[in-house]
Amino acid sequence: MPKAIGFAAQAADQALEYFEFERRDPTADDVEIEIAYCGVCHSDLHQARNEWGGTVFPCVPGHEIVGKVTRVGNKVSKYKVGDTVGVGCMVDSCRTCANCEDGYEQYCDNGFVGTYNGEDKHMGGVTFGGYSNRITVAQDFVLKVSDKLDLAGVAPLLCAGITTYSPLRHWGVTKGHKVGVVGLGGLGHMAVKIAKAMGAEVVLFTTSPNKVDDAKRLGADHVVISKDEEQMKAWRNSLDFILNTVAAPHDLDAYLTLLRLDGTMTLVGVPAESHPSPAVFNLIAKRRSLAGSLIGGIAETQEMLDFCAEHGITSDIEMIAMDEINEAYERMLKSDVKYRFVIDMATLKQK
Ligand code: NAP
Ligand code: ZN
Ligand code: ZN
Repeated sequence: MPKAIGFAAQAADQALEYFEFERRDPTADDVEIEIAYCGVCHSDLHQARNEWGGTVFPCVPGHEIVGKVTRVGNKVSKYKVGDTVGVGCMVDSCRTCANCEDGYEQYCDNGFVGTYNGEDKHMGGVTFGGYSNRITVAQDFVLKVSDKLDLAGVAPLLCAGITTYSPLRHWGVTKGHKVGVVGLGGLGHMAVKIAKAMGAEVVLFTTSPNKVDDAKRLGADHVVISKDEEQMKAWRNSLDFILNTVAAPHDLDAYLTLLRLDGTMTLVGVPAESHPSPAVFNLIAKRRSLAGSLIGGIAETQEMLDFCAEHGITSDIEMIAMDEINEAYERMLKSDVKYRFVIDMATLKQK
């Protein structure tokens, strides 16, 4: 079996460090990928530190993977050696439940297999993710990546891109809509770009005054400092849709009151502790909805990658070496990310 190297957390309270393990040889249906870049999602930090519970250690995070195909099984028809491909948050699902059949593998009734910390049906134990030099994945969970775009900037589309694209599509965001995006981090900056490309008027809400210029450069039509009550008041009852990407518990009422009649706020951020419950009155007063959304299905992820290629959208990244990952996590906790860390896997060396 091929040897792999990567970075793993050995326990919730330990820094990530060098780790050696094995990948499976490709089965008939598998694609083996040499990883070029892997994005750093806030979910990696939540899970490496066991903030959601259920992390099995050692944990090799990483689910924003791009690279080149190095081997394929004899039943693989979609990919060949040398192709540029991506892998996102899922590497398998039951493929037979109603949701899987409808292309909603992320809502698989039997639980999808996460790219890391998922049940590894081939090797036993849990799956290991993209903070590593290679990965073997079933062809149906591999995505085609356009050679036209900067590959490192594409990596974050595999989670941050699809997690924002899917709800924007599902709630029908289009020209003429006023759309709020809360938080300008990895997910938030993709939401701004994608909502803008869908034709919406985009209002970005941030706690960081130093991000105002960037938000405008990224496509926001308006930027609101969310700690400033006067600025917030000016947007009451006006937004059709809000995508809330914040990774920490906060007051949801401050945003719900900005929705117009029948408006929806969709949560994609998953803080370690729950948000305080919003006031029912703010929901009933304008028939508002509070919703949630999880990544996106495989077909929709391909649709998003094609949409981004067509609109020239990639992530704004800060490239890091593999051994800078722990520092990157600390900066992420301070909202100091512009706007996604991406690991250059060429910096990961055998010890
Ligand atoms: P990130 O890059 O760290 O961005 C989060 C942003 O939230 C920060 O940049 C900051 O933006 C804002 N923020 C942070 N702490 C805040 C606080 N205390 N109060 C208000 N705003 C705060 O994280 P990410 O990678 O985008 O992920 C965001 C969340 O989505 C995480 O919880 C992650 O686990 C989750 N996630 C969910 C899915 C899904 O399928 N639903 C998929 C991927 C990730 P400002 O500086 O602009 O305020
Ligand atoms: Zn993610
Ligand atoms: Zn299923």
